Amino acid sequence: MTFNAMIVEKNDEGKTSASVQQISIDQLPDAEVTVAVEYSTVNYKDGLCIGPGGGLVRKYPHIPGIDLAGTVEASTDDRYKAGDKVVLTGWRVGEAHWGGYAQKARVRADWLVPLPDGLDTRLAMAVGTAGFTAMLAVMALEDHGLKPGNGPVLVTGAAGGVGSVATAILANLGYDVAAVTGRPEAADYLKSLGATQIVAREEINETTKRPLEAETWAGCVDAVGGDMLARILGQMKYGASVSAVGLAGGVGLPATVIPFLLRGVNLLGIDSVMQPYDNRVKAWQRIARDLPMDKLEAMIQPATLSDLPALGRDILKGQIKGRVVVDVNA
Ligand code: NDP
Repeated sequence: MTFNAMIVEKNDEGKTSASVQQISIDQLPDAEVTVAVEYSTVNYKDGLCIGPGGGLVRKYPHIPGIDLAGTVEASTDDRYKAGDKVVLTGWRVGEAHWGGYAQKARVRADWLVPLPDGLDTRLAMAVGTAGFTAMLAVMALEDHGLKPGNGPVLVTGAAGGVGSVATAILANLGYDVAAVTGRPEAADYLKSLGATQIVAREEINETTKRPLEAETWAGCVDAVGGDMLARILGQMKYGASVSAVGLAGGVGLPATVIPFLLRGVNLLGIDSVMQPYDNRVKAWQRIARDLPMDKLEAMIQPATLSDLPALGRDILKGQIKGRVVVDVNA
């Protein structure tokens, strides 16, 4: 039995190329659960894995796709049976293990989460790793004392995947959301997700010699890192926290320790890949409860397997707005 998969191959000169091909079910890696994939999505890491790999892919030929949602077809693990709806994000699937850009995937039972009530497989992939991580970032801020009424919450890289979902969740929870974007044309989109303030990227992207500025933000979900994160640390209110999620603007952090020492600011690291199971289930339940589905629908850009090479290039250039949902059976 054969099915469609988007395969990335590497030639003798080390150049990668991606194309949709037919493969057989026997070619899938060994693992407990075979999933009939319905939808996948495009995250920043997928852009790397569709292209030259960014050091993430171990072996070629490779099937990328760090996220998938679908129906269990067969399982040798008691936790899952044929017909169960499941979601998978992280665990280096789509990097070290074949991922979701195929009509079928074989994965470890430990990596799966049952599809939460209130989401179907398409909406789950509109959320994907980006949205799941946005929820983890908000949960971390809440755990460190963030409450509506504390003041405005900043979201950086706001028109991207993590930023769009974080904006919609925070606004729905009653926060005043300030959205940082480098795309002025995305202002209406961000306001439709619930942002009350648009901050131009260049306003906040420059380093400053002053380690502390006016206490402005009660919390921050940061998808950008680099100079922007360094600057934001000095603008946080006393005792406020920043969830550091991403590196769209750089991996460096040219900051001083002054905001930590004089304002008790917290820098919280957010990892979605190795999140323990219980917290995954909690985050997916919170997503189903706290992310308004009409806002999620407004973020969706539909796609098919053959669109992926171009979409991979776009996300690396920061040109995707919202969330791509890939119908692997289209
Ligand atoms: P997207 O490409 O969808 O969003 C990133 C956004 O960042 C862009 O849309 C853009 O927003 C902004 N941006 C891009 N380049 C720059 C730049 N040079 N300077 C400032 N802003 C920039 O990616 P995702 O939302 O999927 O992921 C965001 C980040 O989070 C990535 O770095 C990704 O690797 C990371 N990530 C981390 C996870 C974890 O487990 N910690 C999980 C998921 C993602 P705008 O146009 O609005 O300015």
